[in-house]
Amino acid sequence: MTFSEAIRGRKAALIDMDGVLYDSMPLHCRAWRRTMLEEGLDIPAEEFFQYEGMTGAATINLLMERERGLTLSPEECAAIYARKATYFREEGQPVPMPGAAEMLRQMRDEGLTTVLVTGSAQNSLLSRLEEDYPGVFPQERRVTALDVTHGKPHPEPYLKGLEKAGVSAAEAVVLENAPLGVRAGKAAGIFTIAWMTGPIPSSAFISAGADLLLPR
Ligand code: MG
Repeated sequence: MTFSEAIRGRKAALIDMDGVLYDSMPLHCRAWRRTMLEEGLDIPAEEFFQYEGMTGAATINLLMERERGLTLSPEECAAIYARKATYFREEGQPVPMPGAAEMLRQMRDEGLTTVLVTGSAQNSLLSRLEEDYPGVFPQERRVTALDVTHGKPHPEPYLKGLEKAGVSAAEAVVLENAPLGVRAGKAAGIFTIAWMTGPIPSSAFISAGADLLLPR
């Protein structure tokens, strides 16, 4: 199956941001590595690709528990995550993902309603969406970290996306670059396209249940 076949006849596309609309994951990974080094944890930058989609607190807790046997308070997590967000901004502006605009154009031509579904609350990126993708993601068609209690792989972000689009799961398609995001799309019962824009092997997307794998 091709991308055009996958979107044909659907009514809405629920689209992830980091690693799909922006080539921002390498910057996130470096910001995470720098943050965790300050906490005394030497985690390779590439490892953070695996955690994409989880909330910041979930990522911090996973590593702290694994490496230190520590469970941090929500306040401690928030303070660490705030530093990560600062370091991400210091990495500079990520570029729009090459090829993303063309996929969005095909979706528009097919008549799909586009909804942003991101686990991010990173305002530095969210505020640029209108400039980089004009008219594609108006405020009322955005699900961000601020709208959900559960991060991916929980289906909540994509279920909220269906609600905002006003369509059923069968009428929608998800576009994701992260295995946990693919799991979230599938858990919401939606046809999920994995766009492999990072270093994660295709086997991880197959195990996550992706319906279609697209190379970068
Ligand atoms: Mg992503």
